[in-house]
Amino acid sequence: MEGASQADSYIDGSKLPKIRVVVRKRPMSQKEINKNEQDVVECFEPQTVVVKELKEKVDLTKYIEEHHFVFDQVFDEAISNQDFYVQVVQPLVSALFLGSKVTCFAYGQTGSGKTHTMMGPPGDSEHKIPGMYLLAANDIFALMEDDSMSDFSVYISFYEIYCGKLYDLLNGRKLVHARENASQKVKIMGLTEAQITSVEETMEVIDFGLSSRTTGTTAMNSDSSRSHAVLQIAIKQDNGKLFGKMSFIDLAGSERGADAFDSKKETRMDGAEINKSLLALKECIRALDQSKKHTPFRGSKLTMVLKDSFQGNKCKTVMVANIGPTISCCEHTLNTLRYADRVKELKKENRDTSNSLMLPRQSNNSKKYELKRKNSFEGK
Ligand code: ADP
Ligand code: MG
Repeated sequence: MEGASQADSYIDGSKLPKIRVVVRKRPMSQKEINKNEQDVVECFEPQTVVVKELKEKVDLTKYIEEHHFVFDQVFDEAISNQDFYVQVVQPLVSALFLGSKVTCFAYGQTGSGKTHTMMGPPGDSEHKIPGMYLLAANDIFALMEDDSMSDFSVYISFYEIYCGKLYDLLNGRKLVHARENASQKVKIMGLTEAQITSVEETMEVIDFGLSSRTTGTTAMNSDSSRSHAVLQIAIKQDNGKLFGKMSFIDLAGSERGADAFDSKKETRMDGAEINKSLLALKECIRALDQSKKHTPFRGSKLTMVLKDSFQGNKCKTVMVANIGPTISCCEHTLNTLRYADRVKELKKENRDTSNSLMLPRQSNNSKKYELKRKNSFEGK
């Protein structure tokens, strides 16, 4: 109950807490349905998720252990990208226009729905159902039409972090380097920043970047589950001064971190790097949440390039924990929820799940939002 009304009150962005951790469960795939796989994840909106784990005793008798978690918001498989956007990302867009640095991470095992959330399901541009990137761009360009924004422009960068190295997806996957300057600002030297003026242009730029992501990764004999994809939309004043920045990070598959212990050297190195960056990320978000003076952003390339998004009261971060529904994902699902739980520890009183479990299911109130919208995505 609380969660839905909370989300509504975040619409103006100024009341948004620094960190929000939300869970999104994906639906069963056709393949899983065909295999008659069991759904072991139950979401009790607005805040509780329960995972049923099948365990075995020493005498081989089986029993079910229930794991309860409480987050800022929990969404089951019925939520569409559009409704998820309204609840989770639109408040960030609103904060962006108040001059904030806002960040949305998608965390989870490979196949849990990170890219579906960020990019939308695959399809050609024209028929594509948009994900967070384009839904946000849609609102950003609607809000840019306001007279007060006439001296501002929008720029986009799109890059990949693979094995601790940065590759510019808008420039043929060129290797670029991050440097910390004398005033301790981190800058990526030579990274393409494309000026964009419409949602259509945003879509073209993203498609362009993704095409170079695919070819680049095939050539390197790796896949997108081993890299973090970072899409940043910056609003700058005409004099070049940064006003606000929105970052979307489609993280490497969280299970890849375990490859750190693989016998193959290359896989092991990839895994170690992913492991390091996901651990550093957790620590940086925790530092932001607890308003710590020291942010351990040097712990990985990922956290280093996001340094300015982890510091100061104006930074707003949402961590989306994407999870699969089935028994075969169960171990990874629990790992994801435990990670998310550590990113932001909710206050004690929220941890008592006995009440939330008895709540009737809430439909998300997604109609109440005030940002101006263009209609280009409606009805798709
Ligand atoms: P990840 O990026 O985490 O590896 P994907 O986003 O590629 O995972 O999702 C894996 C598959 O599941 C894709 O075919 C995707 O379209 C589908 N999928 C994921 N989330 C959803 C959802 N919420 N609704 C419908 N299909 C989904
Ligand atoms: Mg993906």
